[in-house]
Amino acid sequence: MSGSGRPPGSSRPSSSRPSSSRPSSSRPGSPSAAASAEPPPASEVLQGIPGAPGIALGRVVVLGPYRHGYPRRFATDAKVELDRFRFAVDRAAKHLRELATAAPATTAHSVLEAYVFMVQDPTLEAAVAERVRTERRCAEWAVALSVEAISEKLASSRDSYLRERSRDIEFVGEHILRGFVETTEEPRVLPEGPLVVVARDLSPADTAALTRQKVVAYVTEGGSRTSHTSITARALKLPAVVGVSELLAEVSTGDVVIVDGIKGTLTLHPTPADLEEAERRAERYRIRSTELREAKERLATTTDGARVRLLANVEHAEEAERAREEGAEGVGLYRTEYLYIDRPHPPTEEEQLENFRAVLDAMPDRQVVLRTFDLGGDKFTTSFMLPQELNPMLGLRAVRLALSRPEVFLEHLRAMVRASAFGEVRIMVPMVAGIAELRKVRALLERAHDEVRARGEPCADNIPLGVMIEVPSAALMADHFAREAAFLSIGTNDLIQYTMAVDRASRRLAYLASPFDPSIARLIHGVVRAGNEHDCPVSVCGAMAADPLACLLLLGLGVRDLSMEPGAIPEIREAIKRTSLLEAERVAKRALELSSAEEVEHLVAEAFAPRLFDILMGELEPPPPVEPTA
Ligand code: PEP
Ligand code: MG
Repeated sequence: MSGSGRPPGSSRPSSSRPSSSRPSSSRPGSPSAAASAEPPPASEVLQGIPGAPGIALGRVVVLGPYRHGYPRRFATDAKVELDRFRFAVDRAAKHLRELATAAPATTAHSVLEAYVFMVQDPTLEAAVAERVRTERRCAEWAVALSVEAISEKLASSRDSYLRERSRDIEFVGEHILRGFVETTEEPRVLPEGPLVVVARDLSPADTAALTRQKVVAYVTEGGSRTSHTSITARALKLPAVVGVSELLAEVSTGDVVIVDGIKGTLTLHPTPADLEEAERRAERYRIRSTELREAKERLATTTDGARVRLLANVEHAEEAERAREEGAEGVGLYRTEYLYIDRPHPPTEEEQLENFRAVLDAMPDRQVVLRTFDLGGDKFTTSFMLPQELNPMLGLRAVRLALSRPEVFLEHLRAMVRASAFGEVRIMVPMVAGIAELRKVRALLERAHDEVRARGEPCADNIPLGVMIEVPSAALMADHFAREAAFLSIGTNDLIQYTMAVDRASRRLAYLASPFDPSIARLIHGVVRAGNEHDCPVSVCGAMAADPLACLLLLGLGVRDLSMEPGAIPEIREAIKRTSLLEAERVAKRALELSSAEEVEHLVAEAFAPRLFDILMGELEPPPPVEPTA
């Protein structure tokens, strides 16, 4: 989502920063004891993307120092160097294996297992041996150069699977380089106290390896709200800022910084006053979040009595447990595609069934919407080895891919049908563009149902089949979908992408991808009307539902079911509790008449931001008004 959802005119720190080189002296001694005899240097604020909310202060630890700090010497004895290389590989493999064993059965676990194999890859060994023998480089130097060469080759590949692997080989290289030195678990010199982990990007291995340290925040140069760093940080309830340009050129290990995951900023060389203020804000944010999470009233009801159901978007089975703790009334979107990540073959029917059961077990007597795999486009296609497309977002994605591989899809559907014996399963189809796709999926689902029954396995008699409305054609034809589907769920992330013709991952064009664009309000309004006419429930499961201001627009447009990342539930519940349906409807009616996203955002913010100040800004009180200067 763009930088929406904040009161207009709210003072976000400027993204431009002083071009002067940063001050080198008078760094505060510790985050809390920051007194300095010299006048403090001016702080510098780097703007990134809010990856996970919260505020933290700590000392930077830059991950990846080995990649930059390895020895570069010429080898005198090739055999000695190659023995050192094998020793480092063994150590890295052992370390990664330990991490994989300790990691829960999440993506991190499967990625770490894959890294164990990559570390021992014969191609890498051959490349290193070649450089040691013919170029007479030491083992570390040979590893670094070989990894760089392989990574560049992969990055320029036309095959999306191979391109994805380029980052992996870099992480693997990093671990081998760590294997040459005494400790393989953490950077050589860890600063004291709370740590802010800074990296170009963080792999599951990096985050898993640091769990024993007192990590208080993550900051990365790459990444987006949906990158691994952001997802992990939100799961661990740590603040994160991602997508900070030139981050690694600006910070070094040991620097004291302030991370603001609400505004998406990183403050360098904070002054004592900055640190004091940040500590106060961090404390207020903690108090506020705890209050919201522990609210006695767990149901979201407007001040005039309208009930809104809050459900969770879940990516890994174990997240469902946490979703329930946050107050989710069910799972509105289980992104099953994560089961297919980083593996050469699709998961088996049994494996899928076991995974779906884990989600259902965490949500007894509550609805769980299993979305059929949404692979392709920006999502991992590793199990399918798809050919490169010019426009993958407009290509063989989601239901299109599923229908092109009926055997794989049937296995997926059978696992879902079998899961229906253990809970309240619903099935939902992503990226549907025309009614024929829904009909084809229904036919395959019936076949899967028959096959499961024929085997004598238990399953529900009727499994509701719903459609995601995330392509404008489906939104415009919502009345037809509402007649044939059991429910509609609006995926605003893709609906905005395809309506505004803006790549959802583009940082540069993010300003166009606003959930406040009136075209989006009109499409949603049309879908809700169609749902009401045909008695077909309509929910929203895109990130718009997790935005405290945008969710009130959805409420006014008639949506009563909102599904979102679990961590957002307490704030959204609170935003709804402070609003009347009448007001929301009045604002939505006016929004439908406006002509631009800016106007709609302004309208919504003017109506609701003042009462949501604490939620929007992570502050308890609005700042005192600034005295006008004479
Ligand atoms: C969406 O597109 O809004 C959605 C919920 O699906 P995903 O983000 O998984 O594409
Ligand atoms: Mg989508």
